[in-house]
Amino acid sequence: MGDVIKLKPVRPCPICKKPSSQQYHPFCSARCADIDLNRWLSGSYVIPAEPVEDDVDDGPARPGQREDDED
Ligand SMILES: [Zn+2]
Repeated sequence: MGDVIKLKPVRPCPICKKPSSQQYHPFCSARCADIDLNRWLSGSYVIPAEPVEDDVDDGPARPGQREDDED
C-alpha cells in the first residue's frame, strides 16, 4: 500500500506563479496581494456588472411633485 492522499492542491500565486502561502492566500506574499489590488484599482481586471437591487422608494425628487415656492 502506498496511497498518498494529496491534501489541498497548492495553487500557484496568480501574480508570480510561486506557491501561494496560506497566510496570503491565494498569493504568496503580501507584496503579490498588493500587486493584485493595484491591478484592480488600475482597471486591469474586468469587473462584471452586477445588477444592483435598489428598492429605495423615498427619493427626494418625485415626478409630479416639485417644490416651487420660489415665486
Ligand atoms: Zn506571488
